[in-house]
Amino acid sequence: MSETQEHAAKDSVPELKQRIRELETMLHACRLRLPNAPAEAVRELAESEERFALAVRGTSDGIWDWDIRTNKVFFSPPWKSMIGYADDEIANDFSTFENLLHPEDHDRVMATLNDYLESRIPRYAVEFRFRHKDGSWRWILARGRALRDEHGKPYRMAGSHTDVTERKRDEEELRKARHDAESANHAKSAFLANMSHEIRTPMNGVIGMSELLLETSLNETQREYLEMLKHSADSLLELLNDILDFSKIEAGRMELDSHEFDLNEIVTEVAQAMGVRAFQKRLVLLHHLSPEVPARLIGDDGRLRQILINLIGNAIKFTHKGGVTIEVSVESETADLVTLHFKINDTGIGIANEMQESIFEAFTQAETSTSRRYGGTGLGLAICRDLVALMQGRIWVESQPGTGSTFHFNAVFGRTSGISIKPKSPRIEPVVTAHSSMKVLIVEDGHINQLVGARMLEKRGHTVTLASTGRESIELLKKEPFDAVLMDVHMPGINGYEATAKIRQGEKDTGRHVPIIAMTANAMKGDRELCLAAGMDDYISKPLRSAELFQVVEQFSRRKTEEEPGHAAADSASAADRPQPEDPPFDLAEFRESTGDEKLMRKLVAIFSEDSQKYLRKAEKALASGKAKPAYEAAHSLKGMLGVYAANKALKLANELCEYTHAEDLKGARMMYDQLKKECALLGDALTASFDPGI
Ligand code: ADP
Repeated sequence: MSETQEHAAKDSVPELKQRIRELETMLHACRLRLPNAPAEAVRELAESEERFALAVRGTSDGIWDWDIRTNKVFFSPPWKSMIGYADDEIANDFSTFENLLHPEDHDRVMATLNDYLESRIPRYAVEFRFRHKDGSWRWILARGRALRDEHGKPYRMAGSHTDVTERKRDEEELRKARHDAESANHAKSAFLANMSHEIRTPMNGVIGMSELLLETSLNETQREYLEMLKHSADSLLELLNDILDFSKIEAGRMELDSHEFDLNEIVTEVAQAMGVRAFQKRLVLLHHLSPEVPARLIGDDGRLRQILINLIGNAIKFTHKGGVTIEVSVESETADLVTLHFKINDTGIGIANEMQESIFEAFTQAETSTSRRYGGTGLGLAICRDLVALMQGRIWVESQPGTGSTFHFNAVFGRTSGISIKPKSPRIEPVVTAHSSMKVLIVEDGHINQLVGARMLEKRGHTVTLASTGRESIELLKKEPFDAVLMDVHMPGINGYEATAKIRQGEKDTGRHVPIIAMTANAMKGDRELCLAAGMDDYISKPLRSAELFQVVEQFSRRKTEEEPGHAAADSASAADRPQPEDPPFDLAEFRESTGDEKLMRKLVAIFSEDSQKYLRKAEKALASGKAKPAYEAAHSLKGMLGVYAANKALKLANELCEYTHAEDLKGARMMYDQLKKECALLGDALTASFDPGI
């Protein structure tokens, strides 16, 4: 106890004596009321009063004791000195307390007190600002208890005041520090997100140019160097994408883009894509979906694919013999939602127990030697963890060093409302079997980007016209028709959105609609919506990759909307019959790469006819009797086998057939079936020709 407090405590002795006398009177009254009160109880009461007196003297808290009936309050000297008053400077009644309360806290404190007195809350404890004699405000924590008569009506209440100003100040500082740290972190993430997507633009030049250069005639050394360059550029882009994703999540800018998709298709595609890497390391890669997993789900398939690629990529990277399995099962389901459980198991190096949590943190790798031996940044799992959380699931790992690891995650998906769905993209009208030459206008102010886009398309057999401003593109379109326009969004002068708006305005008179594809380096959420809202038909992000570019541009090749609006469907069927000599029915190199073994290839070719015929017959029979479901199953099986042969054209048709049968659109399905049957015949011939014994 400090000297002043001790002094104050001594000063309060007469006051206390007075209180004790009052209490003795009360005690006496009790005794009168309870004439037979045992001596024991009486002594206990006296002792407890003594303890109270001791407590008052011994504490630095202020004590108050309020007689509710008279409104007189005893305030102990520390109660008063806490707010700078000497014992005789303030009156001992309730209004003293009320007057010192901060005006903003007054009503709240009174309400709490009333609630307690009327037994609506069990305890009285409240914090408020209290005016000090010097005009400053102190934070006080008040606590107290009431004594009640036999009807529960309170007649006296006593308690304490504790000065919590210091604690409040600390709390406030902590809150401010946390807020500052959070906004600094937020700013950092936003900066990273912006920076990484800015860097992607020049990467367009690097990757695109090296892709083009690789297609020219080069000597062996040049090719080798260039391949190394391309490889580095690809990994740099991968890293940029990781950083972009991660910082977008951190900055709270990541959102899921949900729609209907086929889970089996996603898993198969990912397994096929990763299969090459597994094959190179002589690892087995297997996947299995439990039969009860719904075929179609609603969710963000792109992000799901990203998680799977990450986990399977890691599994292959950290495994040297054995293999990797992917399993999907249903964990729980309701009428609208289904929770799936994904399991990616490997027989690799495993992860030490103490690292099994921290590997999910950003930039954490299990061993310091990992990045040297295996590369990587330690961002992949952090991104997976956040994406899984966005899908209302969680991710965890079980692992035994030296034996292998199993990564688990679950995620919630929507169910589809039955099978009456439309084919995925109605814009791609029945199907694009092969590309025929298109007239494409590229509107872009950057020279490198112009060149990359133009070369890629020209090599593919399309004719390209270049415009470097929005205005130029509007003029060109007035003069001649184009099959598609690739439009840069950010250009000086009239930007891509404005140019599109002008073009669409002009089309009101002609009734034409030229497909406009936005090109942008912005990978931010909302850009896609902006492009579509501006009247564009699709969207492609830079750097341009040839496969993606062809797919986006060529989807419009059969629409012929300029000449025959509304006749796209009929037209595409006949167009598909036209011979397309530039596109072989299958890709020999890809077939060889994915099979890896000449003997196996020959065997696959030998069984192609029989197998494809079997499924085609099944589909035909089902369609003839108007049964969509078995037709869908047959189409699905066909799709699975066509992938093995790298028969992209047939695969696309089989895919469309799946969609139509799934949507129970039998008319569309029959049309697709006819095309697929023809294509399979062509494919069979091409396969036999390529593997003729003796060649
Ligand atoms: P990166 O692979 O880029 O380093 P990740 O976040 O994907 O980053 O993984 C973090 C670390 O977790 C890896 O560096 C590795 O040490 C460990 N790890 C991830 N998957 C496996 C696995 N299947 N087997 C063994 N270790 C793994």
